Amino acid sequence: MKILIKLSGESLSGSNKEGDRQFSEPTLGSIVLHIKMLQGDGHEVALVVGGGNLFRGHELTGKLAIERPTADYIGMLATVQNALILRDYFESKGVETRVSSAITMPQICEGYIPKRVERHMKKGRVVIFAAGLGAPYFTTDSTSVQRALEMKADMLIMAKNGVDGLYTADPDTDKSAVFIKETTASEVLERDLKAADQSAIALAKEHGLLIKVIGVPDIARALDPEVGSLIRPI
Ligand code: UDP
Repeated sequence: MKILIKLSGESLSGSNKEGDRQFSEPTLGSIVLHIKMLQGDGHEVALVVGGGNLFRGHELTGKLAIERPTADYIGMLATVQNALILRDYFESKGVETRVSSAITMPQICEGYIPKRVERHMKKGRVVIFAAGLGAPYFTTDSTSVQRALEMKADMLIMAKNGVDGLYTADPDTDKSAVFIKETTASEVLERDLKAADQSAIALAKEHGLLIKVIGVPDIARALDPEVGSLIRPI
């Protein structure tokens, strides 16, 4: 199968309490091991990485007279930083990896060329999509749905930090939160469940993309029906 995994920036710091901006080596080590296992099972794997561990556009908006688009571009650059760190780390562990950026910066990584991505994946390389969609007012959730659709992925895996799937509320703060094994995109939108941004879910629904929400420690077992929560595009 061809799968796209969305990793938020925060998931790179694991449960590292020293600060969100840190990278946790054990977490990165576990992520690459899990990706190797998926590849070993014959799956093609691509990633969309967020930047929330370093920077989120809206945090700077209004401060120092910085406008939203500028802040968002800085957020996109944060995703490139994460992608470069993952690339070198993955390669050091023997996983061939390419970064495909929506904003061209030829000195440091490839620009996004869909056919080129396809070729990398056929060769067994992991492709990391960086710089989101290259446009402000979007997030990497929307990016992951768009890229999954464009590369004709069989499934989008939203790998979450600290939870093992989709819940009715945040289980960390709300003890009445209930695990949802399977649902529809329409229900996620209606109940405003925190699987991904609403615009990302709406896009997946409109174009028939299956989404699975799992915990980061379950990446290797992402396709196991016992693991995580499924969101059907209806
Ligand atoms: N961003 C953007 N357009 C995109 C993707 C990302 O403007 O297509 C900016 C936005 O400011 C966002 C930041 O990049 O806050 C980091 O991405 P995101 O918040 O999605 O990262 P995550 O929460 O997944 O770590």
